Amino acid sequence: MLASNEPSFRQSVDIMFNRAAALLDLPPGLEEKIRVCNSTYVVRFGVRLRGQIHTFTGYRSVHSEHMEPVKGGIRYALSVDQDEVEALAALMTYKCALVEVPFGGSKGGLCIDPRVWNEEELERITRRFAYELIKRDLINPSQNVPAPDMGTSEREMAWIADQYRRMATTDINARACVTGKPLNAGGIAGRVEATGRGIQFALREFFRHPEDVARAHLDGSLAGKRIIIQGLGNVGYHAAKFLSEDDDCRIVGIIERDGAILDPGGLPVERVKAHLNETGGVRGFPGAEYVADGMSVLTEDCDILIPAAMEGVINLANVHRIRAPLIVEAANGPITAGADEVLRGKGTVIIPDLFANAGGVTVSYFEWVKNLSHIRFGRLQRRQEETRHHLLVEELERLSADRGLGWTLSPGFKEKYLRGAGELELVRSGLDDTMRGAYQAMREVWLGRKDVPDLRIAAYIVAIQRVAASYRALGL
Ligand code: NAD
Repeated sequence: MLASNEPSFRQSVDIMFNRAAALLDLPPGLEEKIRVCNSTYVVRFGVRLRGQIHTFTGYRSVHSEHMEPVKGGIRYALSVDQDEVEALAALMTYKCALVEVPFGGSKGGLCIDPRVWNEEELERITRRFAYELIKRDLINPSQNVPAPDMGTSEREMAWIADQYRRMATTDINARACVTGKPLNAGGIAGRVEATGRGIQFALREFFRHPEDVARAHLDGSLAGKRIIIQGLGNVGYHAAKFLSEDDDCRIVGIIERDGAILDPGGLPVERVKAHLNETGGVRGFPGAEYVADGMSVLTEDCDILIPAAMEGVINLANVHRIRAPLIVEAANGPITAGADEVLRGKGTVIIPDLFANAGGVTVSYFEWVKNLSHIRFGRLQRRQEETRHHLLVEELERLSADRGLGWTLSPGFKEKYLRGAGELELVRSGLDDTMRGAYQAMREVWLGRKDVPDLRIAAYIVAIQRVAASYRALGL
C-alpha cells in the first residue's frame, strides 16, 4: 500500500524516535541501545490440517528488556513480517514507559489469515505456535507476556494460557503467562473494552484543556463532535460505542474492509457491529450511504478521525487530502513518518498511538498483577467500604430526623454511594488515572518546550527519558 518513497513501518518508528532523541542529551551510545530491537525469533512450524501439512511462519520480537517481563500482543494477519513485528515491539517499549507500566517491549505475530481457518484448526495452529514460544521462554509470566492484537482475541489467549499450564505444570503463576484472557480463565473485568475505553479517556482528557482543543482548531466539549472511524474491531467498536453512547459524539463514518458507510446524523454503532458480524462487512447497512472505496472516506470532512485498523493508512498518497483537524491513533502506526511531517505542517493535532491506545496494555498490567496475587480486585475491601458508607448515610438521616431538618438525599444518590467498587469500577478508575497522568506528562513537554512541535515528539521524549533512566539504574 505504501509508495516506494515511504519508509517501512519500523523505519517510520525509528524516524519518530530519532526526532525526539535529537532533542535530548543522552550519553553516547545509549540512544542506539534504546532504539535497536534486542532480538527477533522466527519460527516455521507445520500443522497437519485438511489432510496435508501446512507450514506457518511466526515471530516474537523483544525490543527492550530494561524491565521484565516484556509485553506485547500477538497479531494474526497476512501482513505480519519481521519489520512489522519489530516496529510494534518498539512501540510497546515506549508505550509502557509513557503510561508507567513496568514492562519492556515485545510483540508477536503469525503470518496467517485467521478467517480462512475454522475454530478447531485455529486452536491447533495457536497451540503449536505457543508451544514453540513457550519452550524458549518467549511466553513466561516472569519473562514475556503476550496479549491480543489484530486478528486475535480472548479465545486465542485462553488456548495459549492452557498450553502454558500443560507445559509448566508446577508454575503456580501460570495464568500470568498471557493477558487478555476470558474472565473464567483468569482474565480481568474490563480488559476486552480496555483499549477503546482508553481512547475515550484520552479524548476526554484532551477536551479538558481548552488551550489544546484550540490548537486543533476546535472548540467546546466532546459532545456533538463528528467522528470518522476506520476498523470496527475490538478497538474501533468499543471506542465508537463509548464515545457515541457516553459522550454524545456523532459517528458520521465507519470504514471497514469492504467499504465505508456514512450518515451525517450519526450511525448506530451497535447495529452496525451486528450487521458486520452477520454479513462480514458494512455494505448493505440500511439507511446509510455506502462508499465502495472505503479508504477515500479517511479524507472526508469530520472533527475527529480515528484510524483503528492497521498501520500506514495515512501516507504520502492521501495525506494532502486529510481534512480532520484532530486525529487519534487508535491503531498502531496508522500515520507514516512522511505523512506525520505533512500533517504537522498543516497544523493537524495528532494524539499519538503510544498514548492513545495504551489502555490495552494498562489493563493487561492489572490482569497480570491480579494473576500474581491470585485474588480479584476489590474482593477484600468492597463490603467494608459499603459498611462505612452505610454508617455515614444512616448518621446523616438520623441527624436530619433528630433535629427536624427534613433533609432528603437526591434520588439515586444513596444507591450509587452505598455500592462499593467492584473489579470493573476499579479497573476503569485505574485506567482513567493512567491515561490522565500520561497525558499530563506529555502535555508538560509539549507546551513547556519551544523545540517540541507536537504531542508525538513529547510522548517519545517522556518515554525515552524513562527508559534511559532504567538503563542507567541497571548500570549501562
Ligand atoms: P481487530 O482484528 O479486532 O479489528 C480490526 C478491524 O479492522 C476489523 O474489524 C477489520 O475488519 C478491520 N480492518 C482490517 N483491515 C482493514 C482495512 N484495510 N480497512 C478498514 N478496516 C480494516 O483488531 P484490534 O485488536 O481492534 O486492533 C486494531 C489496531 O489497534 C491494530 O493496529 C492494533 O495493533 C491496535 N491495538 C490493539 C489493541 C488491543 O487491545 N486489541 C491494543 C493496542 C493497539
